[in-house]
Amino acid sequence: MSSRVIFQNGTVVSMVPGEEPRQANVLVIDGDIAKIGDFGDMEGEFIDATDCIVAPGFVDTHRHVWQTQLRGVTHDWSLKDYIRSIRLQSAVHYRPEDMYVGNYLGMLEAINAGVTTVLDFSHCINSPEHATEAIRGTRESGIRSIFALGLNEVPLNNPVFNTVEHRIDHAKYLRATEFPSDDALVTMGIALSDVHIAGIERVTSEVGISRELDIPMTFHANAVLFPDPVSEVAFLEEAGLLGPDLIWVHMNLSTDEELRRVIETGGAVSCTPETEMQMGMGNPVFGRFIEAGGHPGLGCDVISNNSGCLFSQMRLALQAERMVTNDKSLNTGYAPDMIWPTTGTALRAATVWGAEALGLDAKIGTLEVGKQADVIMIRGDDVNMLPVNKPVGSIVLHAHPGNVDTVMVAGRILKRNGQLLESRAQLRGKVRDSHDHLMSSIARSGGLIPQPPAPLPW
Ligand SMILES: [Zn+2]
Repeated sequence: MSSRVIFQNGTVVSMVPGEEPRQANVLVIDGDIAKIGDFGDMEGEFIDATDCIVAPGFVDTHRHVWQTQLRGVTHDWSLKDYIRSIRLQSAVHYRPEDMYVGNYLGMLEAINAGVTTVLDFSHCINSPEHATEAIRGTRESGIRSIFALGLNEVPLNNPVFNTVEHRIDHAKYLRATEFPSDDALVTMGIALSDVHIAGIERVTSEVGISRELDIPMTFHANAVLFPDPVSEVAFLEEAGLLGPDLIWVHMNLSTDEELRRVIETGGAVSCTPETEMQMGMGNPVFGRFIEAGGHPGLGCDVISNNSGCLFSQMRLALQAERMVTNDKSLNTGYAPDMIWPTTGTALRAATVWGAEALGLDAKIGTLEVGKQADVIMIRGDDVNMLPVNKPVGSIVLHAHPGNVDTVMVAGRILKRNGQLLESRAQLRGKVRDSHDHLMSSIARSGGLIPQPPAPLPW
């Protein structure tokens, strides 16, 4: 028997270009959107969407999910502090079970916030089991994800992976065993090493294996901030390696010409405004990439630092860009006549543009008949939402994860009546054990760098 779920009488924000929000029902059959409209002949499980907004689930295009149980330790850090203390120090102490906990907890956090797809940039792969356990955590959460296997080295005393060839063999093994199908809910990608750490030769060989395995790649583009700066775009351009299978991250300091080359070659960009603005990575590229003709996606990025909530990223990307744009007017002596970008632009970035960036727009990103049912329902009758005059703007500027009533991924309900459908008691114990192990191991090896700064006198 087929499974049928009906979101009844909601305000549907489909994110299909040209479609305005409208009152409608959404029928989901066997995980796919079967019908949207005003129809009455319905059988199945009813979800009362009265006073609610029904929208596509959010798509996060860049997140390091493994770091979730280190939540908060980087609050006041720069990018250099983060690389030193999380990437090169804390990562050393991760065991396979910590990867499971980080991914399971982190994906539940995402689902709770209405995020139904995450590109997981997983760069703490200390052994094959680390990857296996991260994938298990993701799968158990029920979310849709691209597991981007980090090929970078972690500075272990006794590394399990001794050479890049060893990591490449492991990538081939995972492709053959864990990820033979590109139609599954969790699929595979490659997270390329940072060029300022690994060097150009290594990154070139990593690009080669991604293409051999026919899976997408994602790449941090901010090495221009480091000694011996390298522009990743210029480097791949020179090597003839630019292409549509590349999901670029950050690019704050890339030139307009480099952004255009990424667009011309079919590449995508993920903008992560919260970490970028905090950690000194330059103005987010959000508006410049749109002006160059591109469709940026959004990401939460450093989940040990900030929330896993795309509402925050939409707001930060939007208002930071408005500030920059408004300043252009103010610098000529005039207050701005119009505000750009719009809230609709921010919501596109968190939904349909994110899906495009990940190459998943044929399956998700909008509410359309035939697409997979990654659907969220946001309460419009909560005190911070009432009244909903403009549904799109209400999502972007008013809503928070507490307003997300229902989350569905590929037709499966993962949050209902504002509650995740998982055992929180069991989760708490696992998170506590993993956190305690990590913090005590880090303390034994000298503590986090930097140490907590002395309190300021005010
Ligand atoms: Zn990142």
